Amino acid sequence: MKTILILLFLQIAVLTSGQNTKIGNDLYLYSQPDPVQNCTPDIKFDPAIHENVAGPYDGSNASFIWPFDVLLDEGIVLVNYVDDLSGGSIKDYNDNDWSYNGHNGTDLCLHDFRNMDRFYSVKAAESGTVVQIEMNNPDRNTAMGGDPANIVLIRHDDGSYAYYYHLMRKSVLVKLGEYVLQGKEIGYVGSSGSSTDAHLHFEPGYFTNGSWNKRDPWQGTYNHLASMWQNQPGYIGFRDFKMHDMGVFTAGQVGGNMANLTFAMLKERLITPNTVSCYEDKIGFWMQFQCNNTGKQIRFELRNSNGVLIDDVYFFASVQNQYSWSWWTPDFNPGISATGDWYVRLLYDNVEKGRYFFNVQLLTSNRPRLYPVAGKCFRRTLLVQKDTLRVRPVRSNMQYDLLNAPPNVTITNDSIINISTLNQTFREKEFKVIASIGGSASLRDTMIYKLIDTTKEDFTGNGIVSLELYFSS
Ligand SMILES: [Zn+2]
Repeated sequence: MKTILILLFLQIAVLTSGQNTKIGNDLYLYSQPDPVQNCTPDIKFDPAIHENVAGPYDGSNASFIWPFDVLLDEGIVLVNYVDDLSGGSIKDYNDNDWSYNGHNGTDLCLHDFRNMDRFYSVKAAESGTVVQIEMNNPDRNTAMGGDPANIVLIRHDDGSYAYYYHLMRKSVLVKLGEYVLQGKEIGYVGSSGSSTDAHLHFEPGYFTNGSWNKRDPWQGTYNHLASMWQNQPGYIGFRDFKMHDMGVFTAGQVGGNMANLTFAMLKERLITPNTVSCYEDKIGFWMQFQCNNTGKQIRFELRNSNGVLIDDVYFFASVQNQYSWSWWTPDFNPGISATGDWYVRLLYDNVEKGRYFFNVQLLTSNRPRLYPVAGKCFRRTLLVQKDTLRVRPVRSNMQYDLLNAPPNVTITNDSIINISTLNQTFREKEFKVIASIGGSASLRDTMIYKLIDTTKEDFTGNGIVSLELYFSS
């Protein structure tokens, strides 16, 4: 009995910490495991907040817009549809299983936390009244820990609702009781609550007789109800293969052990070097992808500056990967005569899906990387606010430039940003600080700031207006 329990615990530990597997010579796969619990809690009827409608709710009058500025597959990865089948198996709206068991919404992920720090707005898919806000929970979670999420709940004119889950801490931009129009920014994508990645869980539905009923907004061969989308994006669950992102890394960037890449490193996005030394013993390539169980070949190729194939490796699409990374760490060290623009190619079924160039020189040189990560938001205050930029790894010869900065922002001592918001005349402005090595166009990184003066919008509601994004660095 004891042994069984221990095995059970081990199994749970494996499932919840991700499946990081060696699948070949110097070749690895991290596949996001199916959650062991829903990424949203059971929604309970609260008569102080919620209203019933007569069921079943039709939903055919709905006309949702896409809740982001960016389109599907252009920074947004659709990882899970709604599971429309109760019980132990999965049916998404198109009679397939691009979901996990018991999932009540649609999960729309960013590539990584670095993208999260660049403030991906969530927009109201439909007009309605804000009836519930949660906004004080940590937002960089990487586990399904059952923690409460930051949410906005909007009640539509027809009595239905839409939940927007996992938002960034204190990023909610609407007020309780406010009527928001379709397309209004309501907050930023985060990873609060039971969440392994920066994503929006979008869950429309309605209350009948005091209980919550999800309503799958997607129409297809399994869910015959009307689509709730104005323009329903195409189904991605039958797609053979999609490469979302790729890059290069060296041993020094991952603590020396390239075999031991953690999923936390992948989710923060590995720092990509600008140049790689011709004396590196090994070099690493990673890619983020989705694929189906087609049995077809997925191949990395390492090619030198003349396009000559130096090494390659492959594996087969043997499972359904809804949110996965693969990386390859071949031997390198081509010597001083091999400098130039090398590249790695990624092929699916012998068709090129991506190509990533890197420059081979005597020394490895990382791009500057601003600390904490890539973005920060300041709200209006009476004080001058400061933020100290750092560069990882620390370098001399650093140059810091402001881009589109309003007059109340200055930079001193090379890397200290001073923000005086007392006389800020605008509600919201974004500016950038670019750190570069001696002004280099390629050896650079960008820190994005948002300044928000929430008093500049004539709110008449009674909600919270604070906006101060939180970084756990
Ligand atoms: Zn979800």
